[in-house]
Amino acid sequence: MSKPVENNRVTLQALSDYSPKKTLTAIVQLLEPLGGIENFVKPGQKVLLKPNLLAGKPPEKAVTTHPEIIRAVAQLVQAAGGIVYLGDSPGIGSAENVARKCGIMDVVEELGIVFTPFVESVTIHPRGRTFQELEVARELLEAEVVINLPKLKTHQMMGLTCAVKNMFGAIVGLRKPQLHLQAGSDKALFALMLLELCEQLKPSLSIVDAVVGMEGDGPGSGDPRQIGTLIAGTNPVAVDAVATEVVGMKPDQSWTQKMAIDTKRSGALLSEVELLGDDLEELRIVDFKAAKNTDINGRIPDFIQRMLKQALTAQPSPDHSLCNRCEICVKHCPPEAMSIAKRRLQIDYKKCIRCFCCQELCPQGALVTRQGSLLRLTQYYKR
Ligand code: SF4
Ligand code: SF4
Repeated sequence: MSKPVENNRVTLQALSDYSPKKTLTAIVQLLEPLGGIENFVKPGQKVLLKPNLLAGKPPEKAVTTHPEIIRAVAQLVQAAGGIVYLGDSPGIGSAENVARKCGIMDVVEELGIVFTPFVESVTIHPRGRTFQELEVARELLEAEVVINLPKLKTHQMMGLTCAVKNMFGAIVGLRKPQLHLQAGSDKALFALMLLELCEQLKPSLSIVDAVVGMEGDGPGSGDPRQIGTLIAGTNPVAVDAVATEVVGMKPDQSWTQKMAIDTKRSGALLSEVELLGDDLEELRIVDFKAAKNTDINGRIPDFIQRMLKQALTAQPSPDHSLCNRCEICVKHCPPEAMSIAKRRLQIDYKKCIRCFCCQELCPQGALVTRQGSLLRLTQYYKR
């Protein structure tokens, strides 16, 4: 068994609901084993909070990081003398609108946080195997301390979105679908890019909002799920290793976790993590509904997969009774596989790269995941 390293310390804290006092106390207790917030924030430092601001939904939908988590962390940073900034680049709409609809803007205004939506990009050169260049938010690079505040949710393409995936918000606006297009349907490549991006951006601390997470068709249209836990650490890979355990997912159900293990990244295995705080066994939940499998994870040669793409993968399918033809999905589909014709949403499945951006962004929850016949069969025999 590998020996845990200091960077792989991950702390857990039970929290049953978001009442402000309980949340603040729980975050203080959560950070205690890591040396408290003072270990990360020095007086006068510019501290950027990076929540999940995917879409403008109310907090009870569990699409975005809960405003009370933001309030508690911001209060602690301010008490330590830090100057709090908050920013992200949502999937759709302006960051300000999203922050207002999900309740975060109220906290921003009450606490005098500097709201800094990600709009300007700077080119960076990750030292990795995927993309030679990535364009990331200037606002994030200019912060002295970045605190990553993900929401634990299922993710139709990646399996799970948590500490590593949350840093994808550093890619500004429409550059996100461009990266999806460049990666195509190669999930391993996309997951590796997410790991390399997160490593390059190096958030000082990640605090996961897993009090109420999301299961099923995440990250935009799944069901809120009571998990009752906060998770924190300095290594996002180690934090995610613990998060998958808390919800009882296997590491290979999360593509970023699977790729972190395959590429032997430190903290990817639970055996490399030093667990602190509350007992993981007591916080673990059962029957968490994972996202539906959308392919058979590369166990069949590529040329056969290409021939049987429809049958071997899952695809988004419109529920026409819910679709109001707003065209948000049409405008954001990376390979332009979607259109409105004869007053109905149409998808060209030959072009579709199965990125599920459309499902992630649809405000009506009108795109369901349909598994192909052979994929369903493989699931059946795996039981
Ligand atoms: S599927 Fe959703 S995003 Fe796409 S047009 Fe219909 S309502 Fe709009
Ligand atoms: S139809 Fe949806 S899943 Fe397919 S490429 Fe477009 S956005 Fe991605």
